[in-house]
Amino acid sequence: MKNIRNFCIIAHIDHGKSTLADRLLQATNTVTERELKEQLLDDMDLERERGITIKSHAIQMDYEQDGEKYILNLIDTPGHVDFSYEVSRSIAACEGALLIVDASQGIEAQTISNLYLALEHDLTIIPVLNKIDLPHADPEVVAEQIMDLIACDYEDIIHASGKTGLGVENILKAIIDRIPAPEGDPEAPLQALIFDSVYNPFRGVEVYFRVMNGQMTKGDHVKFVNTRKQYHADEIGSLKLKQQPREIVSTGDVGYLISGIKEAKEVKVGDTITHVDKSCEKSIAGFEDVKPMVFAGIYPVDTQDFEELRSSMEKLQLNDASLVWEPETSAALGFGFRCGFLGMLHLEIVQERLEREFDMTVITTAPSVQYHAYLTKNDERVVVNAPSDLPDPSKLDRIEEPFIKANIITKADFVGPVISLCMDRRGTLMSQTYLTTDRVELVFEIPLAEVVFDFFDRLKTISKGYASFDYELIGFRASKLVKLDILLNNDPVDAFCAIVHRDRAYERGKRVCEKLKEVIPRQQFEIPIQSAIGNKVISRETIRALRKNVIAKCYGGDISRKRKLLEKQKKGKKRMRQLGNVEVTQEAFMAVLSVD
Ligand code: GDP
Ligand code: MG
Repeated sequence: MKNIRNFCIIAHIDHGKSTLADRLLQATNTVTERELKEQLLDDMDLERERGITIKSHAIQMDYEQDGEKYILNLIDTPGHVDFSYEVSRSIAACEGALLIVDASQGIEAQTISNLYLALEHDLTIIPVLNKIDLPHADPEVVAEQIMDLIACDYEDIIHASGKTGLGVENILKAIIDRIPAPEGDPEAPLQALIFDSVYNPFRGVEVYFRVMNGQMTKGDHVKFVNTRKQYHADEIGSLKLKQQPREIVSTGDVGYLISGIKEAKEVKVGDTITHVDKSCEKSIAGFEDVKPMVFAGIYPVDTQDFEELRSSMEKLQLNDASLVWEPETSAALGFGFRCGFLGMLHLEIVQERLEREFDMTVITTAPSVQYHAYLTKNDERVVVNAPSDLPDPSKLDRIEEPFIKANIITKADFVGPVISLCMDRRGTLMSQTYLTTDRVELVFEIPLAEVVFDFFDRLKTISKGYASFDYELIGFRASKLVKLDILLNNDPVDAFCAIVHRDRAYERGKRVCEKLKEVIPRQQFEIPIQSAIGNKVISRETIRALRKNVIAKCYGGDISRKRKLLEKQKKGKKRMRQLGNVEVTQEAFMAVLSVD
């Protein structure tokens, strides 16, 4: 145990985390040159293309220093706020973290929020100044920033380059010398933290864990404390480049467990593994059942593909524990699914995977949050995951929406614009703290609905990329909310409707109509677009007819002729849906969120 080191790498995107991880694997002979594909740890296509680590993984390295043999467990963490719970669990499995900063860029947004998570868990931080091979690197200035941020000495900072391999030996030495060995009692009852799981269609779910106390032996009868499920440890082992089966995984170590679990959602990250007999007294603190934060409808472009979409969704859910869905029927779009996601990135990933892995073309409706509507009668609560499900306003006592506590760290120069942005999103400034003369932490309470769409992009733009944003849910609060209906060609379109704040409904309705006018292609007939609250129309736009009004001519006449005329004009089926007799693109479904 005294020769084990468990660590993770914290870095802003593109600062070189994956490249440096590869160098560590090479230097410890964990992989050979031949085995080393670029960015080895990012094994999903999608991750590779986006250059981000979506799921965390772990890998074990053997390393010898001064004749002593060490085991170094590198636990990889996802970097995006959608997955912050997973990051916190990976960090909880470590004693130390490499803090990597690009010497040509300096400290940036994501560095800070993950650093704070690491400090919360008392991790030892090893600062690494990376990419010092770049001609425009400015190691002195960036070193100052790092010293400012974590209050370390210049000598503590390791100069490195993932490209040339410079500094890699120093990093390995620092991991051994500075990061404490794990503590814990090998004789105590088993207590292991699940920090990740990976779906394997052939072997069942692979559970990654860190043993805090006790030990796990192959064949043990174990239980997961929070889900109360029991399993036999059919196979356990350590995570080298490939899995390496072992008889025992003991205190302080990181390992995997395979026990024929068929669905990803059966395993909850943050749960505690113990023995069925001789259980540990307490589960490991910090467990949360992660709940979806963002909901959207997913519909096949072609209504005939509904069953195929269902089977794709089922397969996707097998390996994505955080995706939830149920069938939904829309008057406008027909049969589809109401899906719950961790956040917007998660939504994008699901949509992309449906298209790439399952060859489905889908329409996604505007994402929204969950609302709680309370009926006047009995104060009964109705959970509203789709805006069109909101009960009749005359029956409602109040509507509550989720609020978050948002932590934003930015430069002093951008405090004004950041506060304006958040106030504009119905936020309340709770505190403003200067961390250094140039770094400010702002805390807001904001409705979640105001940040799900494009908030982070805005924040990045107004702060020139220099703002980190993190949030936690603080609960549901009553707000003056109303349902905004959108009528296309005089028909209300359920997939377009949204729940908005009453004071902004008029403005919002107007903008949605304008936006829809922009994105719906002109057709052979005139299309009125209206927004309405209840029966009251609050704005109207008109898409003028494209050319000679062919439809008007056969008005009242032969329906099939009308349809034929339209069919003739139809082309480019991708991400297009027919709503009544209007063709609508994917973009139109997001119009309701357009806030510019
Ligand atoms: P990550 O997003 O933190 O995992 O960053 P990557 O490891 O994917 O690196 C981002 C980009 O920087 C890639 O194009 C790398 O080739 C490049 N890169 C990484 N480390 C270095 C370095 O030390 N020097 C130079 N010049 N480029 C680097
Ligand atoms: Mg990476």
